[in-house]
Amino acid sequence: MKPLHQPVRMHIASVGVSKFCFLLSLAFCGLLLLLIPALQPSARQADLPQPRPQVRPAQLSSLHHARYQAGSGYGRERDSDTKLKKEENIETEITRREKHGSKRETDSRAGALTGGKNGGLSGPKTRDLLELKDIFIAVKTTKKYHKSRVGLLTQTWVSKAQEQTFIFTDGEDKELQKRTGANIINTNCSAAHTRQALCCKMSVEYDKFIESQKKWFCHVDDDNYVILPSLLQLLSSYHHSQDVYLGRPSLDHPIEAAERVKSDGSVSVKFWFATGGAGFCISRGLALKMSPWASLGNFISTAEKIRLPDDCTIGYIIEALLEVTLTHTHLFHSHLENLQKLPSDTVLDQVTLSYGGFENRRNVVSIVGGFSLVEDPTRFKTVHCLLYADTDWCPKIKARHKH
Ligand code: UDP
Ligand code: MN
Repeated sequence: MKPLHQPVRMHIASVGVSKFCFLLSLAFCGLLLLLIPALQPSARQADLPQPRPQVRPAQLSSLHHARYQAGSGYGRERDSDTKLKKEENIETEITRREKHGSKRETDSRAGALTGGKNGGLSGPKTRDLLELKDIFIAVKTTKKYHKSRVGLLTQTWVSKAQEQTFIFTDGEDKELQKRTGANIINTNCSAAHTRQALCCKMSVEYDKFIESQKKWFCHVDDDNYVILPSLLQLLSSYHHSQDVYLGRPSLDHPIEAAERVKSDGSVSVKFWFATGGAGFCISRGLALKMSPWASLGNFISTAEKIRLPDDCTIGYIIEALLEVTLTHTHLFHSHLENLQKLPSDTVLDQVTLSYGGFENRRNVVSIVGGFSLVEDPTRFKTVHCLLYADTDWCPKIKARHKH
């Protein structure tokens, strides 16, 4: 029996020693793993989401809902050579950003977390000092509105953001260009109010933004007034390298569409989208990620696959494909809501305003200033003169205050 016991005991003892060694090395590895993050520079904090000022679903409109019904048709393709080249450029920009998600960017992002509206302890050096010139503002229009709608915009807010505002239209108008000095872009898209034509314009807007190298893409309609100081303040509380999609939903629930991009359409997806008629903004970081479905004609084919309008397609790419959520804001306004309900003393704090619409010509913001409703039926001139009293065509009532 004895000879049998000895090796067994020795075996047990050696097992015990190697188990101990094994456990010891496990503990050491664990300690190392714990130490690694502590030794790293504290960059992670910068990845935290930015402050989200308003998270409140907007008013609903059944009228608007009816509009977002699937249709059919097909879009326009564009020059494939330049397409390839531009795709390469976008890819390079994304890689560059990912590789060198640089310390500098990290620092300013961290600054933006504490900075923004409320100021911050980190001081101006670390804040993302956003300027108006960093924002690309796309205005969608059509030839028949050049005189009426675009005329009012170039006379008012566009005149304060000449360099960064781009008016996307569907017909040559040398006179408009000369008269206003604005950046007019003839998309050569159809002038029809069809999904294809509107998506064609959005596709050109997207490409021009990417080309522009600006930090933010904002889209508005030609019946929107953009309150530039508010827009700048809002965007300053975010960072352009983060995934930011800001706007106002027109429905009180997400829209549902058949998933025909990632699957065969047998399953459906639900997603929120910002209504185009109120305007919306997208950070450059997010816009670059949209490129496989949005750049160089891809936007048109994406829209065709899901058979939804331009603004829904934007929401689809961002929420359903990229899984980035829309930041709901009530600072953007379309004429699908009752604009008279907006308290007068908050009108100038909004980011976008609108007017009228087929359903109600009197649907305008209630604001009192130097113009009567007859003189300024949209209220845009009144708003403009309250913001920029020294404009030469503004009534001089306010000027007396100065002296
Ligand atoms: N629009 C367009 N082509 C058209 C009709 C309209 O590009 O044939 C543009 C128009 O300039 C505006 C937007 O589409 O920027 C929305 O048009 P509108 O305000 O007339 O209609 P809504 O959809 O707001 O009721
Ligand atoms: Mn409209």
